Amino acid sequence: MPSFPQSGTVLLRNATVPTSVLAGTDSGEALQRIDILIDGGEVAGIHPAGGAVPADAAVHDMDGGLALPAFVDLHTHLDKGHIWPRKANPDGTWMGALLATQADRETRWAAADVERRMDFALRCAWAHGTAAVRTHLDSAPPQHAITWELFERMRERWAGRIELQAVSIVGPDELLDPGSLDAVATQVKASGGILGGAVLSHPQTRTIMRRTVEKAGELGLDLDLHCDETGDPQSSALRDLADVVIETGFKGRVLAGHCCALAMQDERVAMATIERVAEAGIAVVSLPICNMYLQDRSNGGGVRTPRWRGVTLLNELKAAGVPVAIASDNTRDPFYAYGDLDCVEVFREGARIIHFDHPQASAWEWARAVGAEAAVIGGFGYEGEIAVGVPADLVLFRARGWTELLPRPQSDRIVLRGGRAIDTTLPDYRELDDLME
Ligand SMILES: [Zn+2]
Repeated sequence: MPSFPQSGTVLLRNATVPTSVLAGTDSGEALQRIDILIDGGEVAGIHPAGGAVPADAAVHDMDGGLALPAFVDLHTHLDKGHIWPRKANPDGTWMGALLATQADRETRWAAADVERRMDFALRCAWAHGTAAVRTHLDSAPPQHAITWELFERMRERWAGRIELQAVSIVGPDELLDPGSLDAVATQVKASGGILGGAVLSHPQTRTIMRRTVEKAGELGLDLDLHCDETGDPQSSALRDLADVVIETGFKGRVLAGHCCALAMQDERVAMATIERVAEAGIAVVSLPICNMYLQDRSNGGGVRTPRWRGVTLLNELKAAGVPVAIASDNTRDPFYAYGDLDCVEVFREGARIIHFDHPQASAWEWARAVGAEAAVIGGFGYEGEIAVGVPADLVLFRARGWTELLPRPQSDRIVLRGGRAIDTTLPDYRELDDLME
């Protein structure tokens, strides 16, 4: 366990935070030094660094180390996680991932199997310092009944540690078919979930979006769709979603994930879509690590190096006023071989892949893409802010700034939940060996 006072009032001295934390003291700098008083598990005071130490408080000197709010991971696939050793992606492509995952699901995804892998993934997220997770759940019947019932139990079991949300994911043809769309939406409604599915390069995309948005409206559900996870510039799911949301006056929350094709379209076409997305009030989550792994990969026909990073036009979307987040996506499954639900990794690799590291003055705003901004987009109860009166859920680093945070994996981070340091030991992969036979 890390060295941190595990009882009583604690003053966290000389912590470095992005300037948005201490309102009214914006000096034009990206970061500032503060003292954070923790009492009764909550943030009891935030002050400029160097003030008096309350008489009853133990002091933990951060020596300039960064303090960030515990993370929000807005897009994951807990049900797919950690199947790689028994079901690898044969060629690293998106289609290879889809077929491998489908074969594994149809033969192996009993509740007990999904439960152990999901719990393993959540323990990873917990140890890395994550407080809220949204997962997509493969919901093609008959899997929907198995997984959603299990999810409800997991949401209950993890309550107070990781706030969980779930989204259905089915293919475009299940969204198009009124019977299966209704079956999935009814399950989602009963389980308190979010309606979703994956659509790319489909000739009936407009109809699919209309039926999905109307079904969500009918049942009072929010939406979260995988849109255009492809390099095909003709793929129009994001544009059609935006048009339908505007045409129908849909009132729920709408989140679009991936949106990779936007980066492959003609500039004028892409910008017109971005304008429509902003007008529709749709938020966008990018999955930089997974997109770079899958997109522009085609080693099947011989030796080839990718020309494209795979991500959507996230900087342009943000500049247009679209709420944006970045998230993990997959973990050791055919869609991404290496994930561990570590939002520090997502932030670090996001900075490198999407280039939000410059200008440096605004780069720290992007920490909110795995924090407060993601929490608002998702509508989580956990807010991802360091503020007086909220639980002291913080991730503490020795790193004092950008070039100390990004080079290293930050394995020595201290994670505070409710003001106390948790055990950050990661679960051992060997635990899952019997599931991989
Ligand atoms: Zn996904």
